[in-house]
Amino acid sequence: MRVAIAEFFHETCTFCPDPTTIELLEPHVRRGQAILDHLTGGYMHGYKQALDEVQAELVPLLEAGGAPGPYTSWLDTACFDKYTDEIVAGLREAGEVDGVLLSLHGAMAVQGVPKPEAEIVRRVRQAVGDKPIIVTLDLHANEDAELTDVADAVFVIKTYPHLDTEQTGYAAARCLIDTIQGRFQPRQALRKPGIISASIYQATDYPPVRTLLERCREWEKQDKVRWVAVAPGFAYADVPDVGLSVIAVTNGDQALADKIAQDVSDLAWSLRESFCQPLPNPQEAVAEALALIRQGQRPVVLADGADRTGDSTHMLQELLNQGVKNFAIPGIADPVVAKQLEATAQVGDKVKVSVGGWASEFSGAPVEISGVIEFMGRPKYTLVGPMGKGRQVQDGLVIRLNLGYNNHVVISERMRGANDSAGFTAVGIDVDSLDVVVLKDRVHHRAFWDTVAKADIKVDAPGIGVADLSTLHYDNVPDDIYPIGRKWHKEEVR
Ligand SMILES: [Zn+2]
Repeated sequence: MRVAIAEFFHETCTFCPDPTTIELLEPHVRRGQAILDHLTGGYMHGYKQALDEVQAELVPLLEAGGAPGPYTSWLDTACFDKYTDEIVAGLREAGEVDGVLLSLHGAMAVQGVPKPEAEIVRRVRQAVGDKPIIVTLDLHANEDAELTDVADAVFVIKTYPHLDTEQTGYAAARCLIDTIQGRFQPRQALRKPGIISASIYQATDYPPVRTLLERCREWEKQDKVRWVAVAPGFAYADVPDVGLSVIAVTNGDQALADKIAQDVSDLAWSLRESFCQPLPNPQEAVAEALALIRQGQRPVVLADGADRTGDSTHMLQELLNQGVKNFAIPGIADPVVAKQLEATAQVGDKVKVSVGGWASEFSGAPVEISGVIEFMGRPKYTLVGPMGKGRQVQDGLVIRLNLGYNNHVVISERMRGANDSAGFTAVGIDVDSLDVVVLKDRVHHRAFWDTVAKADIKVDAPGIGVADLSTLHYDNVPDDIYPIGRKWHKEEVR
């Protein structure tokens, strides 16, 4: 058995400023054997495990898009064509294969290509004819039936924080093997109830998504049912197929797949209001955190999910306004200030700088802070939490200022997250000493921080990744998508 595998993966934030180009992606692309040599978890590692079990020959074609991270905007068409056509050319050169596994994110947005993942599969289909093509997707995928019409089966991950990418890759590859060997006849259905939601509402351990996934698990108990999943979608892409989708994969039973997908989709529609519950603004969130700390509930995480550029100052300003002590912000992106400090100051110096608030209209104003430089450098550290455990992170230039009162702000050359404690200890912050941890993240951090923090307060700060989607301007989404489509506009309802 010969199976070709490829990954072309991008979560495109179309509200972010910088286009995604070949120049940006190419340094991180792998081809051929190098892909297999560097696999450390993830979808393709799952493919390989399943294929190795049956001694299948792997034909690794391409791994593109994993870096430079999810915060770049529209791919230009040259970039999309280059990597898609490279997969197709690789297939033609490889000769006969028995099937293809494609790791696609599902929220790629491309100038001039309205449904990129469906287009990738269409081009692959031209190369392999009726050989089975099975696709895996992130649950932030924005897809519609154009994809399920052209792929034999589509497997969406079931966890956010995303802890099951390898497991899902394995399941998809098992399904492909069974299909090639004639034991499985993929029949699938996709339904879209017409709901768009901010990522911060999509954690799979909490309602409403948990409720939907529990219904999926019930359906999966049936013999013919292989995979039922919900992709809540990615709201920060202004694309026509944006929003929640349900995909059910069965063995040979189209009617059953249709019934399941419709059932879960109807359930999602009935829960639509819980995908957009109002959240506290920065002022309210900081007050809420202080009230918890007074009751001995510490540390508290303030999750500013809106900041997708890393330079937002809304939380910093509010923490200073309310006189909070023992707080840490592990990254305010400001390359100009970081480099200026590197050139003019050293550890132990007391400095005054104006940081952040430069990348977008949503970032807030720069904030003046003064403090002692307690760390300056480009640390390398190993992740310790469930998300990416064991993975090495190489920071750009980071400088930690101690502002007094055990308050710490890390000025970073680029956006810097901290989904576990390693990003804090790498710059000398004692996590145990903190009352407030500010994270520029929505859900991934909870895999670690829910085990440490007494509370996780989701904040509705201004930003490109905002919780209140009505503050973003969309041109391409359907008129009836809840809650932001024109049909639901308050002016029109009134
Ligand atoms: Zn995702």
